Amino acid sequence: AYDVHIIGGGMAGSEAAWQLARRGVKVRLSEMRGGGDMTPAHQGAGLAELVCSNSFRSDDHEKNAVGLLHHEMRQFDSLIMGAAAVAQVPAGSALAVDREVFSAEVERRLAALPTLEVVRERIDTLPAAGLTIVATGPLTAANLAQSIGSATGADSLAFFDAIAPIVYRDSIDMDVCWMASRWDKGETKDYINCPMTREQYRAFHQGLLDGEKTEFREWEASTPYFEGCMPIEVMAARGEDTLRFGPMKPVGLDNPHDATPEFPKGRWPYAVVQLRQDNKLGTLWNMVGFQTKLKHAEQVRLFRTIPGLENAEFARLGGLHRNTFLNSPVLLDRQLRLKSAPHIRFAGQITGCEGYVESAAIGLLAGLMTGTELCGSTWEAPPRTTALGALLSHITGDAEAETYQPMNINFGLFPPPHPGTKKKQRKEAYTSRAKQDLAAWRAALNNGQMPAHA
Ligand code: FAD
Repeated sequence: AYDVHIIGGGMAGSEAAWQLARRGVKVRLSEMRGGGDMTPAHQGAGLAELVCSNSFRSDDHEKNAVGLLHHEMRQFDSLIMGAAAVAQVPAGSALAVDREVFSAEVERRLAALPTLEVVRERIDTLPAAGLTIVATGPLTAANLAQSIGSATGADSLAFFDAIAPIVYRDSIDMDVCWMASRWDKGETKDYINCPMTREQYRAFHQGLLDGEKTEFREWEASTPYFEGCMPIEVMAARGEDTLRFGPMKPVGLDNPHDATPEFPKGRWPYAVVQLRQDNKLGTLWNMVGFQTKLKHAEQVRLFRTIPGLENAEFARLGGLHRNTFLNSPVLLDRQLRLKSAPHIRFAGQITGCEGYVESAAIGLLAGLMTGTELCGSTWEAPPRTTALGALLSHITGDAEAETYQPMNINFGLFPPPHPGTKKKQRKEAYTSRAKQDLAAWRAALNNGQMPAHA
């Protein structure tokens, strides 16, 4: 017997389960991986497995919207933020994690909750009754996707997402590459940089254009890309310099191998390929921004033309995947409930937010909303001036329904700050206002609206 059924043990489902079960609510969490099923992007059975980058992006809560979201989630003892702190690896001002340590920590914390039962099972239809949170993510299994499709009366959209290759550290030639963060901020030298001359860059760019790609299937051909994870060859096709102003930007990266008496710190190369640490041991590094739908053999051939990667061994090559999400602004109410079947809430990327952090944040809110509903209290939404509120408002009605696309948290979703705010102070104006408003909202929630912590 349980009070809430959560379907999907990814970023959102794990966080929602945590928020409820630690308040003593009886939860059943159904996760299909580990029960004989798999998605095209996951590799194992761990809860909250990160399928691509190992970064939760900026942790700066004064000037960055996702950093602010981290901060707000921490105010609610977020499971995902708590596990990230344990699994953290160096990444400059970003919050990056060892994915194995991270997932294991999520499992460990959830296993310690007596009112939570994790069941390894696939759910094929939306439950007809009982409080439910559907958090099955961008790769929702087909039968359930179909069931959601018939319940919503609208087709879920499918589009692409791509995985960046991962390289073994000891196969990278450090006589050619060097460690540095852009502008060498402080003491952090967190990225491996592979320098390119103009000729090398041009040849590489041509290689991306000419390289053999995975063919589109008919039903996939008209679907738009996930903007935040656009394949490198698609970016290359936009113009010869697009990559040099994007992921291959060399500015602020002095190459010490090119040092001369005139330039003792070295010079910026024409272009650069950056790799970021991908696991705690530091043995795996991912090629930043290199998600691709090039064929595997082509990836190996082309990426080995990058200076320093001539002998690169790949732990994982780039790939291409489907993404499923609802037209939430039309289908869901302000509490993430399906208007046509309000016992069902959606959470995570399937609602049309984008990214690990955003998905977990919506899971956190879905947990709080469900807890409030169980208490018979009235839900008061987080203020739109907070990151949680801005994201939730976007999903549940503020976004344009006709052109609805997955969205990362960004200051563009917040109401503008006071008109007199100087341009330089705008970011701080957003975040200090958010912090104040969040504190007031949180105090109101704790005043009896939510079940107390168990
Ligand atoms: P998930 O984390 O995917 O969790 C959903 C869970 O539901 C899974 O564990 C799945 O096994 C389970 N499930 C599915 N169907 C069923 C069913 N019928 N019954 C039971 N269980 C089921 N985000 C970033 O921030 N950075 C990135 O670099 C990045 N790259 C990505 C690359 C790819 C290829 C993909 C697909 C996504 C990427 N994302 C990235 C997005 C990120 O993965 C999601 O935003 C996030 O994981 C969504 O969290 P979620 O909880 O909604 O879904």
